[in-house]
Order: sequence, then structure tokens, then C-alpha cells
Amino acid sequence: MTAAPPAPDLDALLDRVRQFVADECVPLEPLLLNHDYAALAEAMDEVRDKARADGLWNLALHADHGGAGLPLPEFGRVSEALGWSPLGHWATNGQAPDIGNMELLLAHATDAQRGQFLQPVLDGAARSCFAMTEPEHAGSNPTVMSTTARLAGAVPGGVAEGASGAGEWVLDGHKWFTTGFDGADWMVVMAVTDPEASVYKRASMVLVPTGADGVEHVRRLPVMGDEGAGWLSHSEIRLNGVRVPEGNLLGPRGGGFQLAQERLGPGRIHHCMRWIGVCERAIDLMCRRALAREIAPGRALAEQQAVRFWIAESRAETDAARLYVLDTAQAIERDGARAARAGVSAIKFTVAGTLGRVLDRAVQALGGLGVLDDTPLAFWFRHERAARIYDGPDEVHKGVVARQELKRYR
Ligand SMILES: Cc1cc2nc3c(=O)[nH]c(=O)nc-3n(C[C@H](O)[C@H](O)[C@H](O)COP(=O)(O)OP(=O)(O)OC[C@H]3O[C@@H](n4cnc5c(N)ncnc54)[C@H](O)[C@@H]3O)c2cc1C
Repeated sequence: MTAAPPAPDLDALLDRVRQFVADECVPLEPLLLNHDYAALAEAMDEVRDKARADGLWNLALHADHGGAGLPLPEFGRVSEALGWSPLGHWATNGQAPDIGNMELLLAHATDAQRGQFLQPVLDGAARSCFAMTEPEHAGSNPTVMSTTARLAGAVPGGVAEGASGAGEWVLDGHKWFTTGFDGADWMVVMAVTDPEASVYKRASMVLVPTGADGVEHVRRLPVMGDEGAGWLSHSEIRLNGVRVPEGNLLGPRGGGFQLAQERLGPGRIHHCMRWIGVCERAIDLMCRRALAREIAPGRALAEQQAVRFWIAESRAETDAARLYVLDTAQAIERDGARAARAGVSAIKFTVAGTLGRVLDRAVQALGGLGVLDDTPLAFWFRHERAARIYDGPDEVHKGVVARQELKRYR
């Protein structure tokens, strides 16, 4: 491996990212907000080409993979700057769930898997998704799942046909909330491969092309009435006897939950810092409107004490949230995601709560305008309510933090 080039100067990079988002992404937001997805996809292809040419591509990744090679806290700052627009991460190939999948495959894929699945996503020529949650079971406890992957020809207690590496996994199951399935090229499917094993060793990750026979797209799920499309949508799917080569197993057999945990640490920093970027935009919209809107001749909305409280509380909570996330990012870098797990859980519910409150205040400050799609506020208000649910609901993360805290007293 060649020595990575030095990380770029962070302030200069942040300036470039902010400028890029303002010049290239914000002007396209009306296409998104008016649900003109075909025109948006076409325009975004050009923006993504520009990002690649300007060196603003795969910023979260190591320089060896064409990324900026930033330490996690520094990438966090970049993620915040990209979060100013709902299009920022997609423009630079840093959108969920691709970014999590890229990190996962960089750590665990075989050379063949890298060539077939990872490289096209790194290049922006393909998209991926992550299918774990099932309608029939509580997603908050994904150890309980019905989707199975069995080696073709396997018999109970017997030797699986093709176990040498020439066999096929046969997948059957039902998933939902598979973000970005619509138009994706492949997915990571979490499936039970070893039902007799202990709870955390039952499931494995399998790479499945979305075009494989037996992959059924049931529907795009309308989130608060908004079905979206492509990378901005969530799907219900069925796997009906889908066959993929045995070599499509990602990581060790039975290692699905361990890999899912690994995917969480850095991913949590990405998400939380993106939400802080959303808070900053909401505060900006709130302040501009409060100064421009007159509630009586010569009397700006910003003069109202209630509005000033909303602005002050939003500023304080957002700044506090940022410090907490960056501190946790440093802890992950220093001690590893496992050692930092209480913080990794705590920032999830802390920042998701901040996001909800800041968005709510901003919508209120804009009045009727706040619930229209003339600004991105209503889009975020609809879609980011789920921030307290996806990637583990608040209550699960609070349970993790409380357990760690109580341990110190036992
Ligand atoms: C917008 C969006 C995108 C998503 N993207 C993906 C994706 O790409 N891939 C994927 O696999 N999944 C995805 N999910 C699924 C997500 O991970 C699950 O929705 C989440 O884990 C919660 O599971 P559930 O919806 O089944 O809720 P349940 O598990 O049924 O929980 C319902 C509620 O019960 C409460 N609760 C649950 N557990 C506890 C507990 N231990 N203590 C106290 N209260 C509890 C919580 O308030 C929770 O909200 C997405 C979800 C959303 C909304």
C-alpha cells in the first residue's frame, strides 16, 4: 500500500464543500421538493460528475479509495456541511446506505466481491442498499428474523452440496424499509444461515443483485405520504427462492450481526453530523424569515420574545449536539467503536431529538410557509421524524446508555 497523501487542510475543504453545496445542490432542491425525480436524477448526474472532477468525491473514504482520507471527526465536519442540502451527500457519493455498504465491503469483501459489487459504487456507476428489517418482526431486535439463506442441497445435519465454494445460496424472505432499493444494483441481505447457532451467530450477510430471479419489488413505502423514488425511497421486497453464488457471502458465515455492529460506529457519526447540517439550515431559514416578516408595519417577527427563544434554544442545542458528536468521533478513533458504544448510542437519541425540536421551531417560525414545499423544511419534517426510529429507536439506545451507566454502580 502506498503512503496516503496528507489530509487536505480542513478549513479550505469545508469552504469548497459549502460553496459546492450552495452553487450546485441548493438550486436543484425545487426539483426534489416538487417530486420531479426524473429531471432531478438527470441534473444530479451532472452535479456528481462535477463533484468527481473537483475532488469532492467519496469524501468519507480513505485516500487509497479516492476519498479525502480524513479522520472521523474531520469528516464529521464535512458531513455537516453537506447536510445543508438534502442533495449534498448524494452529490458527493456519500449517501446512505451506500456509504455504509462501501465501508463494509472495503473491510470485508473478497477481491472478486470488490470487483463486482464495490468498485461500481465507488465509481458512482451503481447503487446499493441494505435489507435487514422485516415487516413481521420488531426491527428494534433484528436477531429475530425469518429470512433464510441456505446452501443449495443442504440437508439437516448433513454436508451441503457445493460447500466447497461452487454451490449457491438460496434466499427466501420478506423485507421492508430497504432504503434506496428502487434503482439499486445490489443489496446486502441479512439472512439466517445457521438457525441452530447462538442468537448472535445465526445470521450472515449475502450480496444479492437486485435483478436476480426471484427478487420481487412489492412497493415503495409512502413515508408521511411521500413515496419518493430511486435513492430517496424505501421499499418492501420479497426474496422468492433467489439463488446467488456461494461466494457472495460477505465476511464470515454467522458474522452478520458482528458486521452490522461494525457498520454502526462511523455511520452514526455521518448521520448525526448530517442532522446537525439540517439544523443549521433550519436556523438559517428561521432567522431570515424572522427578520424579513413584519407582523405589523415596522415590527419584525424577530422582535417577538418567543421567536428569539426559539432561535437561541436552537443555536445552543445544535452547538452542544455538535460537540457531543465530535467528541464521540474522537473516542471512536482513539478507543474503537466498541469501547465508545455508550457515546455512539447517546449521540443518536440526543441529536435526533435536537433535530426534531429545531425543525419544529423553524416550521412554526415560518408559519404557513413552513408546511409548504417552498423550502426544504417540510421535506425534512416529514422524513426526519424517522430519525428517532431508524438505525435503532431512541428507547433502545437509551437502554444501552443506561446499562453502561448502571454497570459502574454494580
Ligand atoms: C425511513 C426509514 C429508513 C429505514 N431504512 C432501513 C434500511 O435501509 N434497511 C433496513 O434494514 N431497515 C431500515 N429501516 C428500518 C429501521 O431500522 C426500523 O424501523 C427500526 O429498527 C425500528 O424497527 P420497527 O420499525 O420494526 O419498530 P419496532 O421494533 O416494532 O418498535 C416500535 C417502537 O417500540 C419501541 N421500542 C422498541 N424496542 C424497545 C425497547 N427495547 N425498549 C423500549 N421501547 C422499545 C420504540 O419506540 C419503537 O419505535 C428504516 C426505517 C425507516 C423509518
